[in-house]
Amino acid sequence: MNINTSEERLKARNIQPTAMRLRVLTYLVESQAAISLSDLEKKFSQADRTTLFRTLKTYLEHGLVHQINDASGTTKYALCAENCTCTYPDDIHLHFYCSSCEQTYCFPHLGIPEFDLPENFKPARGNFVITGQCSSCPA
Ligand SMILES: [Zn+2]
Ligand SMILES: [Zn+2]
Ligand SMILES: [Zn+2]
Repeated sequence: MNINTSEERLKARNIQPTAMRLRVLTYLVESQAAISLSDLEKKFSQADRTTLFRTLKTYLEHGLVHQINDASGTTKYALCAENCTCTYPDDIHLHFYCSSCEQTYCFPHLGIPEFDLPENFKPARGNFVITGQCSSCPA
């Protein structure tokens, strides 16, 4: 399946494409880094905070985005791949948190190894974050 438009992308995840949902999705697609609720508030300053929060929550529930908890203490969100189901270990990948500019990058092509966990530990999700300095920040 090749999804071209934002509208098709929402529909593929069973999300009703409202104007706000489409605009937030476009913003996510264009963002180089993962976004937080406060990034959305800055971008859509005229919009209601609750609406923005609910938009993210809907995306999360329908698997359009995944949640990243980096060292900033702020929850961030990045788009999932079209076929992503956020399951361990196939859909779990690396994230990079830059402690200088406080941006978090999503690297879906950098998967994680399947860890040999102790008996009866049942992994469901993963949240892998490496902290350091990104390529946009001076060394
Ligand atoms: Zn996902
Ligand atoms: Zn940086
Ligand atoms: Zn990611």
